[in-house]
Amino acid sequence: MSLHLSRRNLLAASALLPLGLHLPAAAAQASGPYRVGAFTVTPLRDGLFPLEPSMIPAAESRAGQALLKGAGLPANGPSPEPVNAFLIRRGERHWLLDAGCGTVLGPGFDRVTAALTAEGVRPDQVETIWLSHLHADHAGGLLTPNRLARFANAELVLQERELAYWSDAAARASAPAALSPMFETAQAVLAAYPDRIRRVSGEAELAPGIHALPLPGHTPGHMGVLIADGSDRLLIWGDIVHSRILQMPHPDWTVIWDTDPAEAITTRRRILDRAAVEGLRVTGMHLATSGKIERAETGYELL
Ligand SMILES: [Zn+2]
Repeated sequence: MSLHLSRRNLLAASALLPLGLHLPAAAAQASGPYRVGAFTVTPLRDGLFPLEPSMIPAAESRAGQALLKGAGLPANGPSPEPVNAFLIRRGERHWLLDAGCGTVLGPGFDRVTAALTAEGVRPDQVETIWLSHLHADHAGGLLTPNRLARFANAELVLQERELAYWSDAAARASAPAALSPMFETAQAVLAAYPDRIRRVSGEAELAPGIHALPLPGHTPGHMGVLIADGSDRLLIWGDIVHSRILQMPHPDWTVIWDTDPAEAITTRRRILDRAAVEGLRVTGMHLATSGKIERAETGYELL
C-alpha cells in the first residue's frame, strides 16, 4: 500500500481526530429523506468532522484557500464535513448502510443510534448492515464504548477485498503508526461480530433493487450502494468525496487516508463522469445533500 503521509499531516490528523465539532443542532441535521421509487433513504447524521486543509494536502495552496474563503469558511479551514450513515427502507424491510464513528473518534459524534431510534428502528431490530468500508468513521458505531457489538442481531456485509485487507497482519505491519487506530477499530469490529460477517464480491445484489458498486482506492474494498426502482436511482457513493468544496472542482486532490491515492483519483473521476453522463443522483457519507453531477469549467459540480 502506498500512503502519502507527511509527518506534519499525521500530526494534524491525529491532533484533530478526537475533535468532533460542536455546532448548533440545526447545523447537525441531515437532509432527506430521499425517495427512490418505493425506497426511502434517510441520512442519519453522526456528527460533523472538522476537515483541515492538511488532510487534503493539495488544498494547502492558494487555490484551496480561495475555495474555502469563497464558501464563507476561514481560508485555512477547518471545513465542517458531515459524517452520515443511511437507513434504507422499503415496505416493512429496512437495512442500515454504515454506522458512523460511535465513540472511537471522541466526543461530538455517536448520534447514529439516536437518529435510528427516532426513525422507529431499535438497534436490535437491524438485521443487515452494509459497510462501505471499515474506516473508523463508518464502522466505529458498530461498537459500544466497551467494544462489544452494538447491534445484537445484525449481520455485517462487506466486500471480500475489504475484509481481507483489514484482517491482514502484513498490511497492518507496513501501515504508518498513525494509521494503527484504523486497524484497531476495524479488527475490534470484526472480533465483535464473529460468525456474523458476510462477504460479497464486485457488483453483488445486496437486496432486490440494491447493488454493491466497487469504488476501490480509498480502501481496497471501498464500495458504493446503487438503489434503483424503475427509472429512479440513487447512488450512495461512500467516501468518493470528503470535501464537496475542495474535491468537486479538483477530483485529483486526495485525502491522507487513501490506501492507494492514484486508484482513488481514477475511481473518483470515473464515477463523477458516469454520474454526469447518466444523470445519476448521488449522495455520500460526507455530503450534506443529494444531487446530480454536472461537468464544470473546473472539475465537477453537485447540483
Ligand atoms: Zn469517511
